Amino acid sequence: MAGNTTPLIGVLALQGDVREHRQMLEELGCHVREVRLPSHLVGLNGLVLPGGESSVMDKLMRIFGISASLREAIAAGLPVLGTCAGLILLAKELEDGISGQETLGGLDVTVRRNAFGSQVDSHETDVTIVGVQGPPVHVAFIRAPLVTRVGPDVEVIATLPGGEVVGVRQGAAMGVAFHPEITGDDRLHRIFVESVRSSGFRLASLQTA
Ligand code: GLN
Repeated sequence: MAGNTTPLIGVLALQGDVREHRQMLEELGCHVREVRLPSHLVGLNGLVLPGGESSVMDKLMRIFGISASLREAIAAGLPVLGTCAGLILLAKELEDGISGQETLGGLDVTVRRNAFGSQVDSHETDVTIVGVQGPPVHVAFIRAPLVTRVGPDVEVIATLPGGEVVGVRQGAAMGVAFHPEITGDDRLHRIFVESVRSSGFRLASLQTA
């Protein structure tokens, strides 16, 4: 992809807040394709895994037969952004998953589901994100996960005041425990779209599709 063309970004559209991501990406000048089947991944320049319920997404990914293709695409270097449940999907290891719940990998981290406990299940707060210019980003945490282990090649890009890790990046994969797409601040999406543009990556084919 040449740096000045319109990136084609997929949004995994099996469950979750697909519409909010689609809207934000379109406002940033991207073409958006909803991804449900392996063939939908071919040709993408980037992919967003939305927030929602990771255990349901895992089940639906298996029903739609797309899990292996997503793993292959991410391992091939397709730039990917996961928010909340999307971060869970990207984690190499999972704590407090439902029985048999699997992830896709892409980030060498351990993520604990629903880590905030019921009394602060959902809240909005300001988070400083590495690489995001200007004031902290106003984001929503909704039954959010936490990153409890960070592998040696993983960069921490966001923490809470208590030091809890809520944003990580490794290679072309980025995951955050919160939802910037819900509170309307598009700066994280801008960084992602810029990284998609500058990588020039396009998923030409898949062995599993
Ligand atoms: N608790 C959800 C899960 O386990 C994530 C919540 C969210 O995406 N807002 O997948």
